[in-house]
Amino acid sequence: MQTLRFDNAFIRELPGDAESGPRVRQVHGALWSRVEPTPVAQPRVLAYSAEMAQRLGFSEADVASPEFAAVFGGNALLPGMEPYAANYGGHQFGHWAGQLGDGRAITLGETINAAGERWELQLKGAGMTPYSRSADGRAVLRSSIREFLCSEAMHHLGVPTTRALSLVGTGDEVIRDMFYNGNARPEPGAIVCRVAPSFIRFGNFELPAARGDIELLRKLVDFCIRRDYPHLEGEGEALYAQWFGEVCSRTAVMVSHWMRVGFVHGVMNTDNMSILGLTIDYGPYGWIDNFDPDWTPNTTDRQQRRYRFGQQPHVAHWNLVQLANALVPLFESVEPLEEALQNYVDAWIDADRETIARKLGLAECRDEDVEMMQALYALLALGEVDMTLFFRALMDADLQARSLAPFAEAFYDDGKREEVSPALLAWLERYSRRVAEDPLSAQDRRERMRLGNPRYVLRNYLAQLAIDRAEQGDPSGIQELLEVMRRPYDDQPGMERFAERRPDWARTKAGCSM
Ligand code: AMP
Ligand code: MG
Ligand code: MG
Repeated sequence: MQTLRFDNAFIRELPGDAESGPRVRQVHGALWSRVEPTPVAQPRVLAYSAEMAQRLGFSEADVASPEFAAVFGGNALLPGMEPYAANYGGHQFGHWAGQLGDGRAITLGETINAAGERWELQLKGAGMTPYSRSADGRAVLRSSIREFLCSEAMHHLGVPTTRALSLVGTGDEVIRDMFYNGNARPEPGAIVCRVAPSFIRFGNFELPAARGDIELLRKLVDFCIRRDYPHLEGEGEALYAQWFGEVCSRTAVMVSHWMRVGFVHGVMNTDNMSILGLTIDYGPYGWIDNFDPDWTPNTTDRQQRRYRFGQQPHVAHWNLVQLANALVPLFESVEPLEEALQNYVDAWIDADRETIARKLGLAECRDEDVEMMQALYALLALGEVDMTLFFRALMDADLQARSLAPFAEAFYDDGKREEVSPALLAWLERYSRRVAEDPLSAQDRRERMRLGNPRYVLRNYLAQLAIDRAEQGDPSGIQELLEVMRRPYDDQPGMERFAERRPDWARTKAGCSM
């Protein structure tokens, strides 16, 4: 198999734990612990991302080899791999949770590909680490399928995200007591190899800050800027402020994409916020079908609804405030941090306006367009209209026809359609007048809308169908779904069934957790 080049900067340059191995413990004064994946019974590649494999330098023959399954199932290491688990903390559901760390993720190393790109390879579900607390360090097949598919689907949608290289079945069983089907039953285990330039989270900074270990905090900030933000120049506070400002604007851009495509992360705890502004940690995420700002896929958040769809831009800001708090000891005064936080607000407004222009096919977003979009969102919510189907239909609708016929497929409920029809028709007239004033040609407008409004998103029920098949022993639905999600903006003849609205049977089914 292809040998990879490794440059394991994180563990080379940052302080590590004196103890190695998976004994569960509090780790002080160190940002990582050496720990090896725990071998599994029978590793088997169930699906992989051809783009990611190629990007890392693996041939198809490599992926098909037993060695590949062994490495990405946690049974073998390639030369240069030095596995470890990272130590971090986080705010969970609004509360400081102390040390969390990689409880079921193990980084294998940082590989440098032929193009000179740095990609950290991380196994999720590879066994116990010092941070596994009371859990087992494993992942079940269904959650692994969900993470594998969604990270790749998000990438192809143009949403900043961590990637996935492979999905390997372990041949072992894992037990989860869960809300999933009401009773604990053994389930097949699996391991995803996820890939990103960096898996550093807000929580990596929060933990040393909370413990008053300012030296360790500073080392991590300096390292992160050097490795992950090499384009930043300057030094001291000014450099730190610039860096944090960019974290803020990247986070704003990421969340604006979530809102554009209808993605709900579901667990926006600060340990699940990437310092690079990448979508990370696909657990109980979900996609809104009917446009509902109050919807959350997370069954453990059904009361508070902290992480509901419409709340995400606010939660991201709250999370950035926690990161800012952690960075305070590196500053003489909090002003530069406050200014950088304003970056988030400004970047959010810009990104949101860009989203509006793209979704509505306008050359630019005027002030009154923001209000027009809000009015539309309110109607989509009231009428229980499918977000994805609505915008694709809007792209092709004859605006002079004054009819909702082109939107028929987007409605889930006849009564709600009746209720919202007059207002929606009035909105279409308003939109039609606005389009008439816009400089874009009809053709350019359509293309702008096509590239801003996906036809295919990873609806919860689609992932569930692939999961059901895989649990029955047929993993081919995973690769099939990935294939469709690789071109989410194209009309794909023969693949229409993957664009259909949520069937009735799937209505109450939430995105699952763990
Ligand atoms: P999450 O909600 O997935 O971000 O997880 C929160 C924390 O719980 C992280 O420290 C995870 O590593 C840990 N965790 C979640 N599931 C498991 C598991 N099955 N085994 C060990 N640790 C876990
Ligand atoms: Mg997490
Ligand atoms: Mg998770």
